[in-house]
Amino acid sequence: MAYNSIEEIINKCNDNKISFYEAIMQDTCIATGKKEEENLERMRNMWQVMCEASQEYDSELKSRSKMVGGTGKLMDIYMKSGNSYCGEFILTVIAEALKMGESNACMKRIVAAPTAGSCGVMPSVYIAVKKKHGFSDEEIVKSMFVAAGVGEVIAARAYIAGATGGCQAEIGTAAAMTAAGMVALKNGTPEQIGHAVAMTLKGMLGLVCDPVAGLVEVPCVKRNVIGAANAVVCAEMALAGIESVIPVDQVIDAMREVGDNMPTMYKETACGGCANTPKACEIASMLEM
Ligand code: SF4
Repeated sequence: MAYNSIEEIINKCNDNKISFYEAIMQDTCIATGKKEEENLERMRNMWQVMCEASQEYDSELKSRSKMVGGTGKLMDIYMKSGNSYCGEFILTVIAEALKMGESNACMKRIVAAPTAGSCGVMPSVYIAVKKKHGFSDEEIVKSMFVAAGVGEVIAARAYIAGATGGCQAEIGTAAAMTAAGMVALKNGTPEQIGHAVAMTLKGMLGLVCDPVAGLVEVPCVKRNVIGAANAVVCAEMALAGIESVIPVDQVIDAMREVGDNMPTMYKETACGGCANTPKACEIASMLEM
């Protein structure tokens, strides 16, 4: 991608009176050598796979370690009880993020967005958004380009994988991408998209990657829920006109600085954090037997 900063994208939008989607799509057409319709078709397929992964969720499945499985169904039951603090929208986000994370842990087909470990963040929010607000598939697909454009800038300036930058880079990026897509769906301004990304990433700065027994299960599945919830609240703040004091590209650079200085024990090595608790060590040694 030609853009090295979110600011460049915002400037292009304002200089040419185009939307964030159009700025990303124009660049995508140049990068892929394909027409808009062909690029859209590829993203439509991804959205379709996300929806299928949700529909094909199997609550009976357990991951090979048995640490993960069935929580998506528990959320569905809880949602139907009518006894929750939250409304249907956020409960759907929680349930869908759990289902997608569990499906990944159980080796089912998911869409890495941007990684397999963070695969539940974006679809959970989009599925809830479609259910509650009735956005068309085409509107969602176009906003996914906005999310993808943001992800590419973060990948270029910092990282998107837990092994290189900690979980802030993986779930954090997925959440930032999702927040950007949500703001775009509601016709937020390019600047609001930038603020949503900045606020989302700031909220996840410093988050370590500490998968128990080296498996993308614990705390990963539930972290997808936290990332999705973070995306929702930051998109709402941005749409309300709330701004990030720290400019978005400086937040991305801060994420890189934190990642650069993060000890390797917190970068998917399963040596620190949750992975280094007595319970996690017990699980890891049982799995080795
Ligand atoms: S803890 Fe590590 S493996 Fe798990 S979701 Fe976060 S970055 Fe991915």
